[in-house]
Order: sequence, then C-alpha cells, then structure tokens
Amino acid sequence: MSLGRFSRLSMMTGRNVQAAVNMTTGVLKYSTLQGSSSKLAGKVAIVTASTDGIGFAIARRLLKDGASVVVSSRKQQNVDDAVMKLQTEGLKAVSGIVCHVGKKDDRTKLFDEAVNKFGGLDILISNAAANPAVGAVLDCDEDAWDKIFDINVKSAFLLSKEALPLLRKRGGGSIVYVASIAGLQPFPVLGAYSVSKTALLGLTKAAAQSLATENIRVNCLAPGIIKTRFAQAITDPDASRDIALQSIPMQRFGVPDEMGGVVAFLCSEDAAYITGETIVASGGMQSRL
Ligand code: NAP
Repeated sequence: MSLGRFSRLSMMTGRNVQAAVNMTTGVLKYSTLQGSSSKLAGKVAIVTASTDGIGFAIARRLLKDGASVVVSSRKQQNVDDAVMKLQTEGLKAVSGIVCHVGKKDDRTKLFDEAVNKFGGLDILISNAAANPAVGAVLDCDEDAWDKIFDINVKSAFLLSKEALPLLRKRGGGSIVYVASIAGLQPFPVLGAYSVSKTALLGLTKAAAQSLATENIRVNCLAPGIIKTRFAQAITDPDASRDIALQSIPMQRFGVPDEMGGVVAFLCSEDAAYITGETIVASGGMQSRL
C-alpha cells in the first residue's frame, strides 16, 4: 500500500488488516487482506438496508464467512447493483430483493426470498434507519418523530416478530440490531434519532431475555461515526468534521468493513454465550448511558 500522507497504523494481529490513517482528514484508508472463513457456513442471513454503507459491508462479511445472504433496500437499481458487486467479488451465495422495512408486503417478500432461494433463515440483521429531523429532541415535530420511530424501532420489532417462526424452525438463530453510539450518548443535533437508538438497546435486552431458552440470541451493534453517505454531514471536510474528530480518541472515523466483522462475530458460534449485549465500535468515543 502506498502511504503518501497516510501514516501507517499497524498490521493488526489475527485479522491481517493493513490500515493507514490520513492525518489531514482523519479518514482511514483500509485494505482488507483477510481471507474468507467458514464460520457461518450453512447459515442463511437477511440484512436490511444492505445496498450501501454499513449494511452492505455486513452482507459482504457474512458472505465471506460462508453464509448465504439476502440483501435488500428500497430501490431496485440499488439492489441490482449491490448483488452484481458482490457476485463480481466471487460472493455467489447472494440474492437481492426490494424491501422498504416500513412496508409489510415488502417484509413478507423478503422472508419469502430467503426461504425460496436458500431454504430458511438463521440470521436477521436489522440495519435500516431514517433521520428526517435535525435538532434537539423536543424540537422534533410529531410527523418526524413518528417516521423515525416507525423505521428505526417499529420495523426492527416487526421484522424480529416475523422472523421468529423461521428461526424456530431451524432450532435457533441470531438477531442483530444496528443501533448507534448516539443511543448511549445522545447527539445534541440528532435528538429524536438518538432516543430511537436507545429504544433498540432496550429491545435487544427484552427480546434476548424472552428468546434465550429457544437458542435465539439477540444482540446489538452500536457504531460510532462511520464514513457512509448517512454520516456525510458529519464526516465531510468542514468544521463539524473537526469537532467530531475531537470526540474520537482514535482520531479517525470508522469504515463500514470494521462493522461487518463485529456482526459476523455476534452471529457466529464464537458468540454462543452472548445474548442481550450491545457492542460499541466507536474508536473509543464515550459510551455509557
Ligand atoms: P447509508 O450508507 O446511507 O446506507 C443506507 C442504506 O439503507 C442504503 O442501502 C439505502 O438504500 C437503505 N435504506 C434507507 N432507508 C431504507 C428503508 N426505509 N428500508 C430499507 N432500506 C433503506 O447508511 P449507514 O450509515 O450505513 O447506516 C446504516 C445503519 O447504521 C443505520 O441504522 C444507522 O442509523 C446506523 N449508524 C450509522 C452510523 C454512521 O456514522 N454512518 C453511526 C451509527 C449508526 P435505498 O436508498 O435503496 O433504500
């Protein structure tokens, strides 16, 4: 890897990842050298909102670890592009379908796709989120609040409920919600969004308790600030980027691939005794409720 104005971080033991951080922008240039593993071989996964960003990286990592994966999002073109990209990388056990997580018919078709293409379901990754409101929590208007909670919380609840018969048929499974560091430490300008992510931490605990004896584990990923379209307003090079970087001990934003490995771990046998937990992946940002 040519480093230029990048400063090499390390060869991280075990993960075989070469990384370098651009000291001007705080953005990680990340070269994944890791090979595929088979720790999810035979498993079938659904990842919502997975044609871009964190969801796409999660889907890719689950595929690399041997799972068959259904990717989905609202737009057919994005679904087609994501499937094509993954297949071009040699990840053939992928299928794609349109699913707006707020639409019941779409969710039904999503589960049907997993059953028809891959024979069942073992893993549900609920990753979709909306944020139509910027500002303090009590400045959020009712319509925006409803939209945030419909997409971020209610759809996660409904997807989990609808996945249960399929997971039970397999004798167990794994659900992972993608929350946010903002659910533990609210972002002042993302008030309502932060509260919706806190709700996912509660959903994780409550669902995990009620499903523990059925061999269905429920866990949660709370990303910090990750370089995606969703976080562009924070990570793009302007004043907000510099303020954001000051709150990150690692002095850089995360990249989507760094989220994929955490989710793959939570879904694997390596995490067989972990349920009801939230893993924060935030470069060291404050993460206590
Ligand atoms: P992103 O890069 O903007 O990707 C968003 C993806 O979601 C796209 O594939 C989009 O495709 C799809 N999508 C949007 N609305 C949808 C809906 N209603 N139903 C189904 N798919 C939908 O976003 P991201 O940053 O990866 O965010 C993913 C998750 O991580 C979210 O839950 C977010 O809250 C969380 N998170 C992100 C950060 C961050 O810094 N990026 C930090 C903490 C938590 P279509 O347009 O085709 O639907």
